[in-house]
Amino acid sequence: MLKPIFAANWKMNHGPTDAREFMRSFLAHYPRDTDRTVAFFPPAITLHAVAEALRDRHEILLGVQNVHEEGSGAFTGETSAGMARDAGARLVLVGHSERRHVFGETDEQVARKCEVVTRAGLTPVLCVGEKLEEREAGLTEQVVLRQLAAGLSKLEKQQAGTVIVAYEPVWAIGTGRTATPDDASAVHAAIRAGLKERVAEKAAVMPILYGGSVNRGNAKLLLAAPNVDGLLVGGASLDPGNWAAIVAA
Ligand code: PEP
Repeated sequence: MLKPIFAANWKMNHGPTDAREFMRSFLAHYPRDTDRTVAFFPPAITLHAVAEALRDRHEILLGVQNVHEEGSGAFTGETSAGMARDAGARLVLVGHSERRHVFGETDEQVARKCEVVTRAGLTPVLCVGEKLEEREAGLTEQVVLRQLAAGLSKLEKQQAGTVIVAYEPVWAIGTGRTATPDDASAVHAAIRAGLKERVAEKAAVMPILYGGSVNRGNAKLLLAAPNVDGLLVGGASLDPGNWAAIVAA
C-alpha cells in the first residue's frame, strides 16, 4: 500500500510573507508521524520561505510548479531544474494544464522537462488530462495516454519508474466541477496500464494523483477510489485550515 500523497499547488498565490504565516499555522497542528505524504508547490519566489519553514520537517516535500527545459542560459524569468534543487525542491510539476493551455507548452517540451528534471535528481509530477470537448468526444483515454507516453518518452525505463503522475481533467481544474470517483478511477486504471507497458511491474507502485476541484468535502471519496494514490489540490490548498482538513481526509 502506497502512502497517499497530498500535494498543494499554490499557483500564483502566496508570496513569502503569506507563506510564512500559512506554514506557521499549518505546521503548528500537523504531526510529524503520519501515514501520508504532504508536498507543497509554492511560486518560485516563495520557495526559500517555505524551505526555511520546513527546515526541520524533512518528511514534508517541497517542489516547484515549472522549470525550463534548458539547464541554464538567456531565458529571462525562467527557473532551471538545477536551481530548483539548489533552493530545496525535490519535486517539479511538469505539464500542468495551465502550462499546456495558457502558456502553450507542447508534449515535446513536457518530455524535455521530464528529462532535465530527472537528470537533476528531482522527481517530475507529470500532469495529464483531457479538455471537456475531448471527454465529450470519447477521447479521454487516448489524450491522457498520448500525454503520458510523450512525457516519459525521453526517460530510460529506470527513470520512468520514478515519476509521479497526476491526472487532472482540464474541465475540472478551478471550475468547481470534479470527476466522480468512478470516472477518476477508470482513467487512473488506464494510466496504470499505460505505465505497465512502459515500466512493467514497477507501475504497480507508481503514485497516480487526482486533481481538479478537490476540496474538504470530496477528498475522502476521491482518495478511496481504486488506483487513486493521492490528490493534487489548487484553490482549496491556499487556506491552512482547509488544507489540514484535506490532508486528514
Ligand atoms: C491544480 O492547480 O492542479 C488544481 C487541481 O486546481 P484546483 O484544485 O483549484 O482545481
